[in-house]
Amino acid sequence: MKIVTKITEVREEIKKWKKEGFSVGFVPTMGYLHEGHKSLMTAARANNDKVVVSIFVNPMQFGPTEDLANYPRDLERDSLLCEDAGVDMIFHPEAEEMYDIGFCSYVDMNGLTKELCGKSRPVHFRGVCTVVNKLFHIVQPDRAYFGEKDAQQLAVIKRMVLDLNMDLEIIGCPIVREADGLAKSSRNTYLTKEEREQAVILSKSVALAKELFTDGERKAAVIIEKMTQLIETMPLAKIDYIQVVDTRTIEPLDMIETEALVALAVQFGKARLIDNITLR
Ligand code: AMP
Repeated sequence: MKIVTKITEVREEIKKWKKEGFSVGFVPTMGYLHEGHKSLMTAARANNDKVVVSIFVNPMQFGPTEDLANYPRDLERDSLLCEDAGVDMIFHPEAEEMYDIGFCSYVDMNGLTKELCGKSRPVHFRGVCTVVNKLFHIVQPDRAYFGEKDAQQLAVIKRMVLDLNMDLEIIGCPIVREADGLAKSSRNTYLTKEEREQAVILSKSVALAKELFTDGERKAAVIIEKMTQLIETMPLAKIDYIQVVDTRTIEPLDMIETEALVALAVQFGKARLIDNITLR
């Protein structure tokens, strides 16, 4: 497995692979990898000749008061996980390599980013779309793998690829969870013991949404109210949002007709955690 920091080195390698007719699967990450990331690599490994993982904590997708400086990093541990998952190349650039002096071109989106995380993190998706675009141009993958844990991000990327006629397939992979149900996240490392214990309420609340839906509840307001009540039983939880939205347009729904995304973000101390479920 190669670890590469320069864009030109990635391009050289990709050029060789393409000449050989190899297909390329790509997994973009911010590192501090866990089983959730590994599941994307495993999916990529199964369907492509070569697998590239990027590890880049992208400054552009963090707001000024967010956790960019403290975001956990451990390239050595990440390399072992990638090696174990059969990855062929890690692309690990410095911020200066990705954003040269004078950088001023962005990819932004008008729809899909007004609700959920887009509402609480106004610059986030512009940063995500821009960096993912750049990474797609650098790596030129046939397929790219994203987690359903970041459901809005997955919808945004799929829309961007469609709108901009990008020639690759976007594949969503299921959420990987801890034994008690908490969605795996690099940010779980911020949690104190007490916060960690209480954070299980996120997955319990999405399970409650599913149960209500299965029992016939279709009113978004009722589902949101019951989830809110459950989460508020945890004194350390501060709800950022709980929303029921259309899975494709990310527009809020009053009633669930056939399908809906129920998504939430909850702050526990320094960690802002997200979870979601698709009801259908
Ligand atoms: P991140 O490093 O947090 O930017 O995540 C990189 C990719 O891994 C994104 O596509 C995430 O959705 C995905 N991912 C993160 N956590 C999980 C998880 N618990 N299960 C599945 N995918 C995940």
